[in-house]
Amino acid sequence: MALTVRRSNGVIVEYGGEGIALDASSGALDYPVFVTHAHADHAAAFKHPHLVKYSTEPTYRLLDTLRWRRLRNWSPIYLGRKVRVGDLEVTAHNAGHVLGSVQFEVTSPEGTVLYTGDFSMGNSYTMEAASPVGCDLLVIETTFGAPMFKFPKRREVALEMVRWAVMEAIPAGRIPTFRADSIGNAQEIISLFNSLTNVPVVTARSASWVSDTYRSYGHSLDFVDADSPEGQELMESGSCALIAPKGAKLEYENLETALASGWAAIMRNRARAFPLSDHADFRELLSYIRRCHPKRVLTFHGGALTRGFASYVRKRLGIDARPLTRREETLMGPVSKREVRLKACAEMLAKAVRIPGFEYTEPWLVREMARKGFTRGETEAALRRLLELGVLENTPTGVRLV
Ligand SMILES: [Zn+2]
Ligand SMILES: [Zn+2]
Repeated sequence: MALTVRRSNGVIVEYGGEGIALDASSGALDYPVFVTHAHADHAAAFKHPHLVKYSTEPTYRLLDTLRWRRLRNWSPIYLGRKVRVGDLEVTAHNAGHVLGSVQFEVTSPEGTVLYTGDFSMGNSYTMEAASPVGCDLLVIETTFGAPMFKFPKRREVALEMVRWAVMEAIPAGRIPTFRADSIGNAQEIISLFNSLTNVPVVTARSASWVSDTYRSYGHSLDFVDADSPEGQELMESGSCALIAPKGAKLEYENLETALASGWAAIMRNRARAFPLSDHADFRELLSYIRRCHPKRVLTFHGGALTRGFASYVRKRLGIDARPLTRREETLMGPVSKREVRLKACAEMLAKAVRIPGFEYTEPWLVREMARKGFTRGETEAALRRLLELGVLENTPTGVRLV
């Protein structure tokens, strides 16, 4: 039984009839789901109460803080400790992306798969960088997997943000307002203002809730919620910086708004934007791959701009790479179309011979499988396979279940 990886709502890893789902978004599969972090596009399994879910405790707390409901069927997974599912073993490693974020190393008797989820390679104001994990098959996110994504040093971005707030916005009587993801960048901004300035930081709605959770895990963040009396006073005084989730409605008139996001790297001059990213950029992705020493690389989680990333991996690193699709992949390469059909044929044959002890003749089985769209050759090959596996045995007139 081969170790296989494929895409279906999330990433599916299967071995010997067992399987797990990574960052799955739908309840269609009943495999246990391992969730890398609390961003909504990765944590959607928590919307399905019946699914068995694993995540770190901070990830669970963040979802709870963000008012996700019915968070049932959850078990914590700890950094460096293993969870067993059949012959698969799952180990969590720091991903350096946001509070509680991890990568999953999945080992089988045949080899190891590393699924990065979202990850970051630089130490930031709030997170420690991800460290590479040796693996055979690397499934890597490519959110910023194109050469145009080259992020400046974090400290340079931080100084630029502070300069704009303190030298431009505040002296002009405006409140510098950063629109940022409430998990990750919001806390980075609080932390960098705390360490580089004396400017009080005010946070709005979910940015406050999430920052409270960071605090409960020992992050020293100094901020005030916009709706508290102290926050209202600061907003009236005008000498503070405001951090608000991207979509939140704000009822103030003297705001000077800027975006803080990795996407700012390609937004030149269109709007005030700072390239503060919690993902690896193009060069970091390549260097991370090199340091994990995989035999093959499968890419996921990019868009139109990063479609060509796998070809950079092949050309620059000489490692087999391709985008992860619904097609099954093994440590050696993609499973062929013929192999996929053979597997399906063998599964149906095993169902067709379901009466124990009863003998089935080959011509009858060939006719049965033909009705389901399989050729004589496919049925014969599938029969041979089931005989080899010991599922069926030969009889004088045909085959029967063992
Ligand atoms: Zn994320
Ligand atoms: Zn993501």
